[in-house]
Amino acid sequence: MNNRLYGNLIFELSRQGRKGYSLPKNDFGGHSVKELPAAMRRTVDAEMPECDELTVVRHYTNLSGNNFGVNNGFYPLGSCTMKYNPIINEEVAAMREFSSLHPLQPAETCQGALEVYYGLQEMLCSLTGMSEFTLNPFAGAHGELTGLMVISSYHRSRGDMKRTKVLIPDSAHGTNPASAAVCGLDVVEVKSLEDGTVDVEDLKTKLDDTIAAMMMTNPNTLGLYEKHAHEIAALVHEHGGLMYYDGANLNPMLGVARPGDMGFDVMHINLHKTFSTPHGGGGPGDGPIGVREGLEKFLPTPRVILKEDGSLAVKTATPECLKGECDADDTSLGSIGAFFGNFAVILRAFTYILTIGKENMKMVGPLATLNANYIKENLKDVYELPIPGVCKHEFVFNGLKDKSTGVTTMDVAKRLLDYGYHAPTIYFPLLFHESMMIEPTENESKETIDSFISVMRKIAEEAKETPEIVKSAPRNTPIGRVDDVLAAKHPIITYKQLKNEQ
Ligand SMILES: *Cc1c(COP(=O)(O)O)cnc(C)c1O
Repeated sequence: MNNRLYGNLIFELSRQGRKGYSLPKNDFGGHSVKELPAAMRRTVDAEMPECDELTVVRHYTNLSGNNFGVNNGFYPLGSCTMKYNPIINEEVAAMREFSSLHPLQPAETCQGALEVYYGLQEMLCSLTGMSEFTLNPFAGAHGELTGLMVISSYHRSRGDMKRTKVLIPDSAHGTNPASAAVCGLDVVEVKSLEDGTVDVEDLKTKLDDTIAAMMMTNPNTLGLYEKHAHEIAALVHEHGGLMYYDGANLNPMLGVARPGDMGFDVMHINLHKTFSTPHGGGGPGDGPIGVREGLEKFLPTPRVILKEDGSLAVKTATPECLKGECDADDTSLGSIGAFFGNFAVILRAFTYILTIGKENMKMVGPLATLNANYIKENLKDVYELPIPGVCKHEFVFNGLKDKSTGVTTMDVAKRLLDYGYHAPTIYFPLLFHESMMIEPTENESKETIDSFISVMRKIAEEAKETPEIVKSAPRNTPIGRVDDVLAAKHPIITYKQLKNEQ
């Protein structure tokens, strides 16, 4: 399928006077556009493509063929967890009973939707060991920011104004320091040990009464379980700070362990990683946050709450509180986004959890962990494994083991595209120069994983025998290699249209 046969832009397919649409009759009682004030009217017609329907259908269908998704093939993207999104999720999210609701509808007219919302909050509490959840934040990073705002509100409510720092391990996801900075807090980096886990001795030197919180990912971005999490939490608490858990990817923990039991006070989950939802290319997502007992009152509004009569209601912040004049019992942040978060993603997560069920949920973490270890063990003789041992749901290679070939992680990633696989996450984490972060998830069959392993081995072989093939990959994609530096420094953001013969 070569789109270029047809043209890159729908505009290039345009032929004057050709139509592929039919609009319903204008029934605005004879009023026409001409009645708009002259100053607001166009003087020249808008330049719109004019195409027949079949051309439009083919153009967009062919374009969609350039997308790579979990539905096309294996997508082992570490940290971002590209999980299969079952069709039933889409059916539920599209149900008219949900999709045609209005967020300002009175609570008594949408009890079903509120029940989904409240039900998911409760499920997340039981899966994580937290006391309360809000589903309002729209993404993982948004959850981090909201969680840090909760932590700041908590310190402020105690009159403890000097806590301005957040401790973040050097292996952390980039959104952690970014969220702290957006929240007006200073980032203090904590070093990692050779084995990839947090250096507790380094942490100790950085603890004092200016620490607002420590942010941690566990298992961390190397896929390693931070075995000193309890000790770290105790140390931070001793100094009056709170523990923040980055649960963007809670996959390996499902059914195995709960952040609430490890001493964390505030956390977020990415519904769009842990509980399916396709989220390539920047959306959609939802990043609920959970808090331990005692911090509920700092959560943002609106909140869905259970009333004594068993019905659900929506609680918003009082106008006084939004002006900063609330009493000690009403310290909510107010709204952190439009209404209740991304409800269609919430519906998908709710459906996913119910589909799997409580018993099978316990298998998610162990299966994801098994799959990751299976790949790691079958490739570590040809790819460099900087930190040996058992990993959790993901692991990191530092490029090919044989460095003499000159073939880089970028080359391997590009060559994988030729074989029909999405590349893993590359050049992250920053702890190694040639990072290649692989995460298979629990959904993949042994056959899929075995073929991926054999392709990775084949590429390692090619790197030795015919390195040029790997270095010049990809060959089978519509676009070869883009120059990352040039694209960032001198982006060409206009497109020169091919002139079509009229
Ligand atoms: C994806 C991810 C985030 C950020 O989530 P977004 O929804 O992309 O904002 C934060 N931390 C970790 C560990 C992640 O993998």
